[in-house]
Amino acid sequence: MYFAAKVDKEKCNGCKLCILSCPEPNVIKFNKDDKKVVIDAKRCKNCELCVVGCPSKAIEIVLLQDS
Ligand code: SF4
Ligand code: SF4
Repeated sequence: MYFAAKVDKEKCNGCKLCILSCPEPNVIKFNKDDKKVVIDAKRCKNCELCVVGCPSKAIEIVLLQDS
């Protein structure tokens, strides 16, 4: 089990501020198809900077199962 940031796509407006706030390169990526972001949970360091930086409160830290 591990903690990682997760995006609620219903709330994400595609502003990309979370990408700027994340200290880890390429963990948060912009999906051109739906114009929302996705987070690579396995590489997320759980620093919560994206949670704080999101103006839409679209990101939360969740507990995930190892796969
Ligand atoms: S900061 Fe929030 S609203 Fe903006 S792209 Fe990231 S998750 Fe979406
Ligand atoms: S919690 Fe930190 S490492 Fe993980 S996606 Fe958000 S800003 Fe990046």
